[in-house]
Order: sequence, then C-alpha cells, then structure tokens
Amino acid sequence: MDFSTLRDEAERRDRHDPLSELRDEFVFPSGPDGERAVYFCGNSLGLQPRRARDIVDREMDEWAEMAVDGHFDGEQAWTSYHENLAGPMSRIVGASEEEVVVMNTLTTNLHFMLVSFYRPDRDRYKIIMEGGAFPSDEYAFKSQAKFHGYDPEEAVVHVQPRDGEATLRTEDILEAIEEHGDETALVCLSGLQYYTGQVFDMQTITQKARDVGAKVGWDLAHAVGNAQLNLHDWGPDFAVWCTYKYLNGGPGSVAGCFVHERWSEAFDLPRFAGWWGNKPETRFDMKPEFDPAPGAAGWQVSNAPILSMAPLEASLELFDRAGMENLREKSKDLTGWMLELIDRMPDQPFEILTPRAPEARGCQLSIRTPAEHGDEGGRALYRALREGGVVCDYREPRVIRVAPTPMYNSYTDVWRFCRILYEFVDG
Ligand SMILES: *Cc1c(COP(=O)(O)O)cnc(C)c1O
Repeated sequence: MDFSTLRDEAERRDRHDPLSELRDEFVFPSGPDGERAVYFCGNSLGLQPRRARDIVDREMDEWAEMAVDGHFDGEQAWTSYHENLAGPMSRIVGASEEEVVVMNTLTTNLHFMLVSFYRPDRDRYKIIMEGGAFPSDEYAFKSQAKFHGYDPEEAVVHVQPRDGEATLRTEDILEAIEEHGDETALVCLSGLQYYTGQVFDMQTITQKARDVGAKVGWDLAHAVGNAQLNLHDWGPDFAVWCTYKYLNGGPGSVAGCFVHERWSEAFDLPRFAGWWGNKPETRFDMKPEFDPAPGAAGWQVSNAPILSMAPLEASLELFDRAGMENLREKSKDLTGWMLELIDRMPDQPFEILTPRAPEARGCQLSIRTPAEHGDEGGRALYRALREGGVVCDYREPRVIRVAPTPMYNSYTDVWRFCRILYEFVDG
C-alpha cells in the first residue's frame, strides 16, 4: 500500500469536508511526539469544546458577583438553566422539547425510569436485554428486579449472539421478545452496543415490544450524537443517555432522559418525585402537594448542576451548528474509509466485530487482533498505537476500539491510524 498517495487522498477528503472547521472548536491532547494526538476515544470521553471554559467561567463569575441572585438574574438564570438545553438536546435524539430533560447521570436516570416503567406483576415481570451489555445496566435491571421481590436470574433475560457471531441478529431479538412476550414487563437494550459498535434496529424492536404489550426503553449512551435517532416517531416509553461520550459534556457530566409524549400528563404513574419536577410556576410556593410539570421535566428531582451543564451548553451549540444529519453523513464516510483501508491491507489479519453496513454501525470500529498472536499481540498493537499518538481503547481479549467522530476527527487522522496498523502487521 502506498501511504504517501493515501495521504494525498486523506488531505483531499479533508479539504472537501464541509464539517472540517469544527475541529478547531476543540482542545486536543498531545501525543508522545508533542503533536496533536489522533483522538479516537470520543466513545469514552469526548474532547473539550473550546468555548466550554468561557461558559464555566461565566457561571463562576456570576456565582462570585451575584451569589444567590444568579438563580433568577444571571445571563442564563440558574432556575431555568436546564430548560435551555432541552431544545438542542431534543434535536439530537429526534424528539420534541417537552419529551427531553437534562438531569442527573445515566444510571441514575435509568433507575428513575425503571421506577415508572418497570412495574412487574405476577404475570409480567421479565426484562429483556442484550447479553454482554455494559455492566451498569445489568446491575440496574437485576437490582430493580430484586427490589420488586423477583429472582434477578429469572427476571432478566439476555439475548445472545449465535455461536461464532459477534453481533445480534434483529430476528433473534424479535424472537426472544415473542417467546417471552406474555411475561415481559420491559424490553431495554442499548441503542448502540458499546463493545461491538452494533446499532440495533430500534424502530423495529420498539414496535415489537409494544406489540407484545411490554414497555420499552433504550440506553443511548453510545448512540447519542453518533447514530441518527428518531425517538418520538419510533415510540419507546423512555430513553436515557450520558453526555460525556459523543456529546462532549466533560467527565461525569449531567445526563439526558426522554419520556414519550404519551406519558406527558400521566401524573398517576408512580415516580420518585422531588421539587425540581414540580411545575416551575408553583415550584417556589413550597406547598406540600407535588404538582408535576408535564413532560420529561416532571421526572426531575433536584435543582440542576449548573457547573456540569455549562460545558454541555458549548457542545450542544456545535451540534446545532453542524446538524445531526450532516454529522451522520460524514461519519458513514469517515468510518467507511477506515474500513476500506483496513480491508485493503495485504492478507488483512484482523477480525472486525462491528457490522459493516453503515446503517448497522455508528462511528466506532471494534477490531480484534489475530488469535495466533495471542493476547500479547493485542496489547502490543495497542502500545504501538499509543506510541504513535493514537488515543484509543483496549479491551480484553484482543479488541481495539477506535471511534473516529465526525465532529472533530479528520481523514488524515484515519490515515495516521491505518499507517500504524499497517506497519505493525508488516513488522
Ligand atoms: C457509559 C455507559 C454507562 C455509564 O453509566 P454512568 O451512570 O454514566 O456512569 C452505562 N451504560 C452504558 C450502556 C454505557 O455505555
């Protein structure tokens, strides 16, 4: 492979990329050579938007100068700060503003949603999830089943890939829902599988779950800001996600939550309440009766973490500027090109766990190094990548996960990564 010709091609692609200017809106770490790193870890922690620091400073200044008056008189008054994030967030997930709220953290939101939407009884008590899911979801489901007095081993059903396959087939998920249909209280998978990078057919699975009379929710941690989402039309009861991955909100930043419009005024639905879920008009009347706000906002509990929301404000502006559809277009092409370059390597030795069809994956590729090189082979490749200035992630056994994000990665980044991969294979 001629890497100098490929470099020209990468640069040409970068010049024609209408989103390439967004790269300058982010702060990059440096690699061992002091140069800007190739940052492929946006699936774990997104980069810092340049404007994040200014907005955090603005809030710090208001706190210093206005103190308690910042709640009502700040440039973005703290009492309604979260309301400003619902609009841009709703555009990223394909929902109405009222269906979305920014609050808490991901697993916390999952628990709050389960309080309302996992209501097991003698007949329906099962939760269907994917095998090999992110452990936090597993713990949340099992602990909720136990909380309601069910045996978690029996209540939580896992759909597994077929022998010799890395990803799940939609037909197998649908069949599991059908098989457990009458006993299923909730179907809740991740929208995009964190380990394999597979995007599930959320629309079809949601419909199937509703057809068997189950509630349905999605954990969109790896899907949000990465895959195209259309939550309102797909119609799940709820969805939850974090904002520190593709949404670049910063470490441990505040999370997102979707509750479908059909529950917007379902005030009888059990929920764990707090004063921030009260209608804003009467919130400060300090009455003992809870008067919930309609929509997802009614599930809020505590007043909003302003310093955690401030960086997110900077990032969401960039999503509005770019447009999710444009990001997705670039993403398909960028990851598609990476896949193409890997496949063009002579005697390509890697196993790509991620589905190849663009609609069945986001930006991430999960690449398994050859078994004959042993686990040490995988770790050695990971070290070579880190030494070459590529920030990516390694999971046993032998899986390198790389996430070229359309927001701040370039075709030249992909080229740099592939060159190291190639040199490694070539010895
Ligand atoms: C990242 C991730 C989490 C992390 O949960 P937190 O509550 O944000 O710590 C949970 N579930 C999935 C599927 C994830 O990808």
